[in-house]
Amino acid sequence: MARIIDGKAFAARLRAAIAAEVAVLPFKPGLAVVLVGDDPASQLYVANKARQTVEAGMRSFEHRLPARASQAELLDLVRRLNADPAVHGILVQLPLPPPLAAAEVIAAISPEKDVDGLTVVNAGRLATGLPGLVPCTPLGCLLLLEEVLPEMAGCHAVVIGRSNLVGKPVAQLLLQRDCTVTLAHSRTRDLPGLCRQADILVAAAGRPEMVKGDWVKPGAAVIDVGINRVAGAAGKARLVGDVEFASAAPVAGWITPVPGGVGPMTIACLLRNTLTAAKNQEAARVGEPG
Ligand code: NDP
Repeated sequence: MARIIDGKAFAARLRAAIAAEVAVLPFKPGLAVVLVGDDPASQLYVANKARQTVEAGMRSFEHRLPARASQAELLDLVRRLNADPAVHGILVQLPLPPPLAAAEVIAAISPEKDVDGLTVVNAGRLATGLPGLVPCTPLGCLLLLEEVLPEMAGCHAVVIGRSNLVGKPVAQLLLQRDCTVTLAHSRTRDLPGLCRQADILVAAAGRPEMVKGDWVKPGAAVIDVGINRVAGAAGKARLVGDVEFASAAPVAGWITPVPGGVGPMTIACLLRNTLTAAKNQEAARVGEPG
């Protein structure tokens, strides 16, 4: 039976460590979160981010724009936040309501403040092994894996999903840890057979309970990124991952639950990125000619 990777407890420890570091800084890191429209799930995420930012001793700036906001208004806000020295991190909550174009908005964020790690500069830095800001959920996956598998070199890691937000950066991080990485997607042939070869299996497909127990190599570390809302008993919605926990847990060596696995790590890593960004920007400011 797999040991459970407790992401909730790990994230709480990480947040406490961040708060302790923030408390002794001579400045306050600031995170600006931009929310466009009134999508209830996005509102909940933004509220959680703001609360945890303040709890970590940082400043939280919330900017809400109506769903009818124009691309130009949104770009103008991002540019103002880029220029604001109290703001060290900028996060634009995705998805944006149509017809707003996320790619142009992300490209407008200064790479030094891109705490979501989504700009081409930070993606390129990750791909070429340079230090930069790494997307939060992939960073959370890596920190959890490092805790249970201190030595990953030579492991075969299969990552299901190739999005810029999750799959690709997870694959890059595992490659940096000397794993042999296979990136699977919707056109992959014999996905179950491929997964059975994985010492590390990261599922980020957004397909409820797709990965069954007989896809899992005995003893493998399974990281379930999926967050899917499905109808449960008596029509009540419940959250499930991309892995069928009941059949996978008896086979795996380690497994993250949903909820309580990768999910809580995402905001904790956002705070970590904000702290990193703030320290870098303040150090650069000190080094600037007066
Ligand atoms: P996307 O929809 O952007 O990407 C999904 C990826 O999975 C695509 O690359 C797609 O392949 C692949 N895929 C879809 N169906 C299959 C299939 N049947 N077999 C193999 N591959 C498949 O999703 P995200 O990357 O943004 O998110 C993935 C999951 O992670 C979602 O459930 C999301 O809710 C969750 N998530 C959780 C977070 C957290 O905090 N825990 C944060 C972010 C996301 P193709 O490219 O060929 O279409």
